[in-house]
Amino acid sequence: KRVEVTAEVHGINPDLLDERAVKVVKTLTDAGFEAYIVGGAVRDLLLGMRPKDFDVATNATPEQVKGLFRRAFIIGRRFRIVHVVYGRGREHEVIEVSTFRALPTESEAVAGNEKTAKAELDGKHHAVDASGRVLRDNVWGPQIEDAARRDFTVNAMYYDPQRQLVVDYHGGLADAKAKLLRMIGDPETRYKEDPVRIVRAVRFAAKLGFELEKKTLAPVAACIPLLTNVPASRLFDEMIKLLQTGHSLSSLVQLKKLGLVGQGGKVFAVLDAMLTEAGDLPEGIRGNFVRQAFEDTDRRVNEGRGVSPSFMLACMLWHEVLDRWTKTRNAGEPPVPALAQAIDAVFDARIGDISGRGKLAADMREIWMMQTRFERRSGSGVFSLIEQPRYRAGFDFLRLRADVGEIDPALADWWEDFALGSDDDRQALLADAR
Ligand code: ATP
Ligand code: MG
Repeated sequence: KRVEVTAEVHGINPDLLDERAVKVVKTLTDAGFEAYIVGGAVRDLLLGMRPKDFDVATNATPEQVKGLFRRAFIIGRRFRIVHVVYGRGREHEVIEVSTFRALPTESEAVAGNEKTAKAELDGKHHAVDASGRVLRDNVWGPQIEDAARRDFTVNAMYYDPQRQLVVDYHGGLADAKAKLLRMIGDPETRYKEDPVRIVRAVRFAAKLGFELEKKTLAPVAACIPLLTNVPASRLFDEMIKLLQTGHSLSSLVQLKKLGLVGQGGKVFAVLDAMLTEAGDLPEGIRGNFVRQAFEDTDRRVNEGRGVSPSFMLACMLWHEVLDRWTKTRNAGEPPVPALAQAIDAVFDARIGDISGRGKLAADMREIWMMQTRFERRSGSGVFSLIEQPRYRAGFDFLRLRADVGEIDPALADWWEDFALGSDDDRQALLADAR
């Protein structure tokens, strides 16, 4: 049932809207199409939060959307959408425009491998694998079907910024008020279609402070093994998003509660690397190191500042790197090549195929390798180190190690003074260190 909710009832503050998203909607409706702000942005607006990005949904096809904007690009294969781009460089902004999608039909939902191969060929259909997982989703349909194929009721509302109306088919408004995360349709079927929805549930619960509604929670445990069918890269991306909600520690608690980490979790190798067998942060320096890294991250996110995934990952895997480094060193390898070997081994064990993530891996490696260079407080290496573009990340990492008592805080102080000091200060510091 389609419900239109007026401004007096939904209470969305128009100041939280993004001008460009409104412009995209207007351009589409002026051209005779339906267009709405959709999904997470509507949810955040209802909760009085400024959305970090805006998606638009329309009945125009990607080609028709592209034709209406000067800078618009059709992207994606599994899920074709249009990126409408405004501005350049740091100022640039992307509005994602997706075409209303149809619900998969009954026959497609039970399709086996043969059908999948055919769907891959014609590219027009929903492609579904043997376990019911949707591989491709490019069949256009009416708004009511578009709403039904979204995940949670609070993520399935549409906002018309010109008439200031919220369109709600699944009681999302009431669930938002009650702080409930409720799956649309039969939860078990929806987790089978896309097991990543389990991780998304954790993310939204942590980010919004919502509870999982009872029926939404019930099939989770039984569906967790399905996550092993999901491409590692997609899970990795979801994990990164989860850690950047501004509630990373409560996300970990939630993951443990649902059985996604701990007791041989096997879903997130990176998280399992830093947690105990039971899924807790370890006692002592190791646990404190990660806890403090996560607290810093949450603080930054909640202040609206960015956090780099490479820094977080470097923190999460540090103690495994340290263990392997110590072992290789004790076996007689010099420190620098020993560290390089340890890093390779940890990448192999915990991240696996990192194709397409070269920059992330390079940044992590640099943060770790800098830790050996901080030990040497003499020679020209000192000057080149502070000139490195990634010096700040490496230093923040050093400071964190000092804060939790892993290394002598005097070392971090020395580098801080050196980086900030005048030429005279620096000469004095170098003389001191000799
Ligand atoms: P965030 O603010 O964290 O970006 P979001 O709700 O915008 O949250 P996105 O991943 O950006 O989340 O997805 C946008 C919208 O697309 C969602 O609100 C939801 O309606 C729909 N969606 C995304 N992923 C799925 C999925 N796996 N299954 C069903 N619907 C999905
Ligand atoms: Mg979003």
